[in-house]
Amino acid sequence: MSGSKVQNLTILGSTGSIGVNTLDVVRRHPQRYRLVALCAHRQLDRLFEQCVEFRPCHAVLGDAVLAAELAARLAAVGCRTAVAYGPEALLRAAALPEVDTVMAAIVGAAGLPPTLAAAVAGKKILLANKEALVMAGAVFMRAVRENGAILLPIDSEHNAIFQSLPGDYSGDIDDSGVLGLFLTASGGPFRLTAVADLDSVSPEQACAHPNWVMGQKISVDSATMMNKGLEVIEAHWLFNVPADKIEVVIHPESVVHSLVRYADGSVIAELGNPDMRTPIAHALAYPRRIAAGVEPLDLFKVASLHFERPDFGRFPCLALAYRALADGGCAPTTLNAANEVAVQAFLDRRIGFTTIPRIIAGAMDQLPASRTLESLADVLAADRAAREAAEQLIVGRA
Ligand code: NAD
Ligand code: MG
Repeated sequence: MSGSKVQNLTILGSTGSIGVNTLDVVRRHPQRYRLVALCAHRQLDRLFEQCVEFRPCHAVLGDAVLAAELAARLAAVGCRTAVAYGPEALLRAAALPEVDTVMAAIVGAAGLPPTLAAAVAGKKILLANKEALVMAGAVFMRAVRENGAILLPIDSEHNAIFQSLPGDYSGDIDDSGVLGLFLTASGGPFRLTAVADLDSVSPEQACAHPNWVMGQKISVDSATMMNKGLEVIEAHWLFNVPADKIEVVIHPESVVHSLVRYADGSVIAELGNPDMRTPIAHALAYPRRIAAGVEPLDLFKVASLHFERPDFGRFPCLALAYRALADGGCAPTTLNAANEVAVQAFLDRRIGFTTIPRIIAGAMDQLPASRTLESLADVLAADRAAREAAEQLIVGRA
């Protein structure tokens, strides 16, 4: 490829569902992308295979024991990747001077510090880790602005909205003739389950998503529709759109990935097969287009598309997310942290499915939203307080 520069990448969360999809796109374009750092938590075998294939300069794991084992195995096969471990190593990998682009694909709050470090270092950030933006919206967006970082959404809905907004969208919705956004949602595995049966659903049933193959946490979030709630907050920060102009629409086929409504009556959407390699390839190559390995959309096979209003009674997590956005302050941080704790407790079979929103609502009732968040330290303190409150509510129910 003549004339264009090779992009140097760090992947935070390379062994997860988004990480693996990212490497699949990168593998198709070896002349465009070079991996500088691959970061994971505990999946040693997968990270080893990735290092052998992509030969990054750096690899990061969660602890010293795993890192020593990875280093030994890489040395044995002659791979010279330097191995480090722990949160500080993640921060370094996100801010290395030779890195152009950081894929932020760690799940949950653990992804915030390195993603923020990438923003402070002025990187191009491909944001999958929506929890980072939900918990630290104002702090994160300020870091992006002040350091000239570029933020491109990987979440399929937000990537679709990004593609459907005017090319020169400045963040001023009134000035751009945009009336509002529609975020599409599949409705998850329990869209049609009787509400009375929801309390007895298992983690396995909750993780069996009809259209997307994803990590466990986001799969449970899709089943409660907290995923869509987090995405409403994510859209608010990414596009500077108020909550009353962000509407959720259930679309079980997951072919329309989201839509933008304009003052002249136009509605612009992005469509495609549900495959995360599309938004990943879009953001990697932006503003160009590259092949992603995704099957072309066959409209004749799709034949018909359906849209429904979400039932807030069936999905109380969606209402809680709108409440968090309306309350402002640290309410979204509380929502996110309590949700992470409650989802883990559900996966560990400590609480039932319908207890998840009760724990989150309980934590939000206990912790005043008025707490202001000016820095990463403030955000992490609010996150900790909400985790403690949620854990106590869970223990209190046992
Ligand atoms: P996953 O569980 O499959 O992978 C998570 C990754 O994060 C793994 O590589 C893991 O090693 C790493 N990780 C976990 N805890 C860590 C820690 N404490 N420190 C460092 N690394 C850690 O998750 P996923 O489905 O790939 O989702 C990743 C993020 O992308 C989430 O925020 C999710 O909401 C978002 N997202 C995912 C999809 C999808 O299709 N999977 C779609 C849209 C958005
Ligand atoms: Mg999404």
